[in-house]
Amino acid sequence: MKIVFATGNVGKLREASEILGEGFELVSLAQAGIEEDIPETGNTLRANSLQKAQYLYEKLGCNCFADDTGLEVDALGGAPGVYTARYAGDDKDFNKNMDKVLLELEGLEGEARRARFKSVITLMVDGEPHFFEGTLEGVIALEKSGNGGFGYDPIFIADEYPGLTLADISEEQKNDISHRGKALRAMSQWLHSRR
Ligand code: IMP
Repeated sequence: MKIVFATGNVGKLREASEILGEGFELVSLAQAGIEEDIPETGNTLRANSLQKAQYLYEKLGCNCFADDTGLEVDALGGAPGVYTARYAGDDKDFNKNMDKVLLELEGLEGEARRARFKSVITLMVDGEPHFFEGTLEGVIALEKSGNGGFGYDPIFIADEYPGLTLADISEEQKNDISHRGKALRAMSQWLHSRR
């Protein structure tokens, strides 16, 4: 089955292809001929992933899925949430985003720094939306650490790897526990069960 994934990120495409395994051919936005930015104006991760997947389905008329991910920090009332990518400004600068979160949590320690990544996938099959979710629990580190990963990885310590940020562990270790990995595996199970 051919499925278009609403991403231009080669790493995400590779991860999803590995999880889906044989029988599924994943196609990126560029490969599907989509060059414009897909609108993302919802107030929730679910609304945004649905908006992106429906946009693609209307445009291409084939099976497709979109994901949307956010970081929720308890002490910040769930922020940055849907604003995760542009928390410190429209330039989506990861360092500025992380600095902003670290500054806002100054003076807080341990469990007071609790946070989680959430991913929501909307899969459109035959025009119908299906939702899959994944969560990764952890705390915000006191300072940045590590060279791996992307986004907020250098300041996120998953409960599974105490003392290490997601940028300190390997890509394989991260994919094994990550929010996106869990949502992708749930989608994969659903797709395989229908074959
Ligand atoms: P997207 O919905 O996958 O584009 O993610 C939105 C934003 O969340 C990204 O721009 C990143 O800043 C952040 N993000 C998403 N996934 C991760 C992750 O696995 N680690 C760190 N940051 C992430």
